[in-house]
Amino acid sequence: MSQANIRDLMISSRTMKMPTSRPVVLCLSGHDPSGGAGLQADIEALLAQGCHAAPTVTALTVQDTVNVSDFRVLDREWVLAQANAVIADLHVEAIKLGMLGSVEMVETVLEIRAKLPGIPLVCDPVLRAGGGGALGKDEVGYAMRERLFPASTIATPNLPEARILAELPDGSADECAAKLLPFIEHLLITGGHGDEHEVHNRLYSRGGDQHTFTCQRLPGSYHGSGCTLASTLAGRLAIGEELISAVRTALDYTWRTLRDAERPGQGQFIPRRLPLDGV
Ligand code: PLP
Repeated sequence: MSQANIRDLMISSRTMKMPTSRPVVLCLSGHDPSGGAGLQADIEALLAQGCHAAPTVTALTVQDTVNVSDFRVLDREWVLAQANAVIADLHVEAIKLGMLGSVEMVETVLEIRAKLPGIPLVCDPVLRAGGGGALGKDEVGYAMRERLFPASTIATPNLPEARILAELPDGSADECAAKLLPFIEHLLITGGHGDEHEVHNRLYSRGGDQHTFTCQRLPGSYHGSGCTLASTLAGRLAIGEELISAVRTALDYTWRTLRDAERPGQGQFIPRRLPLDGV
């Protein structure tokens, strides 16, 4: 290459518009080797929103698309070290919490939250896998309620999770919300696990506002729908979308991923979070 060509190349690379970074979302979630839920769901959903996921592992699980057979929560030092590395380097715009697995991990996550005050935090209170297997004792849910909810922007339990958190085994969404709102500012109780003709997803705010988002019930059983919803919501908040609009966008996107879901194994369907023609 001639001197003139090299000079032209240097000038054009200096004047070329460099892409700015996408908003970073710190995800503190478990790993699901089937790829349907957990951190992989977070990464895919956040990519689809134009965000960058910083996936920080809280727990490992052994599971397929049918159910979970075992899990191991990581040592708190390992989780702190991962999160500290991210926080020291990347500009985090929002936090998404998924499976924590132990009361100690709830406390660890609170320590991490304290290093990132003021940014949106979406708490998906994961206690069960889609197939029903436990991913944490109910005590983990109570610790989330008492300790993490006050430090969260919004929590996204499905109705069975809300009933555990509220300690109301037969409670309606309204009854569970009344019990949980003293702990958290906004609560989105999803209705996918019911048997009504339509799915009613209810957003409650401590100020008294309530919004119901209704969508058509889809026929399948899905693995990773809650993770998809919560991480999408965290991504929308990271982008700067206002809460009610972000909830609507996240619900609509999640519904489409379920409509287009695929069944790579013998069990539940996995949401299709990225377009088929991808890269
Ligand atoms: N996080 C992990 C690591 C999981 O393995 C699961 C379910 O298996 C979940 C979260 C919750 O999944 P869902 O989005 O189906 O509620």
